[in-house]
Amino acid sequence: MATLKGGEFLIKEIPANEIFSVEELNEEQKMLRDSAKEFIDREVVPQRERFEKKDYAFTEETMRKLGDMGMLGIAVPEEYGGLGMGFVTTMLACDYLSGTTGSLATAYGAHTGIGTLPIVLYGTEEQKKKYLPDLATGTKFGAYCLTEPDAGSDANSGKTRAKLSEDGKHYIINGQKMWISNAGFADTFTLFAKIDDDKTSQVSSSTDLSWRILKA
Ligand SMILES: Cc1cc2nc3c(=O)[nH]c(=O)nc-3n(C[C@H](O)[C@H](O)[C@H](O)COP(=O)(O)OP(=O)(O)OC[C@H]3O[C@@H](n4cnc5c(N)ncnc54)[C@H](O)[C@@H]3O)c2cc1C
Repeated sequence: MATLKGGEFLIKEIPANEIFSVEELNEEQKMLRDSAKEFIDREVVPQRERFEKKDYAFTEETMRKLGDMGMLGIAVPEEYGGLGMGFVTTMLACDYLSGTTGSLATAYGAHTGIGTLPIVLYGTEEQKKKYLPDLATGTKFGAYCLTEPDAGSDANSGKTRAKLSEDGKHYIINGQKMWISNAGFADTFTLFAKIDDDKTSQVSSSTDLSWRILKA
């Protein structure tokens, strides 16, 4: 099956046999979808008010329960502590969860998507081994730091800078980020900064709030 780029699916003709339908879900995917639904109905729907009234401690508690169930590591490969079930299965869990409360949906999406996938897709082997097992199980939470006061849609205009320390062991980061979902309780931050005066943005991960990058 050909991989489509971006919004190409809107304008390109696609043969019927390449269109995914729910009838094609396997038993494992259906089981995961049903247990996500059962959890949301039991633990989230009756507590919707608490999420909407910004009870972040409760959001964190619920995220940990989702981690215990394996729901935070659906798309993380098994070798790094996840379920290795891929994008379609992630979508099945997100589907019901997202319609229930925007607050938990944002925390869940930020953690499993932008908080974890940059490391799954682009991390070094060392970074994957170091960060993914904790992110997949909800022992630690992830956040993604791109937006700045003057850089939203135009992400490349970000002013945050990363400068290699004199001993060459870590980067020193200076700048300002805003609207970072999960920042209040996250441990692992994927952060965009320009390295010295390089023209392109670079991504790095850190596990402490001073945003030092551990590996040069
Ligand atoms: C719930 C929520 C969670 C978020 N979580 C995160 C997070 O975890 N990490 C993070 O880094 N950021 C996060 N953000 C920030 C989000 O990524 C930015 O809001 C987004 O990138 C848009 O940037 P902006 O708000 O500065 O709007 P702007 O970029 O200033 O855009 C304002 C308006 O102008 C339009 N516009 C912009 N450029 C053009 C153009 N060239 N042509 C035509 N129209 C244009 C836009 O469509 C929009 O309507 C979050 C935002 C929300 C609402």
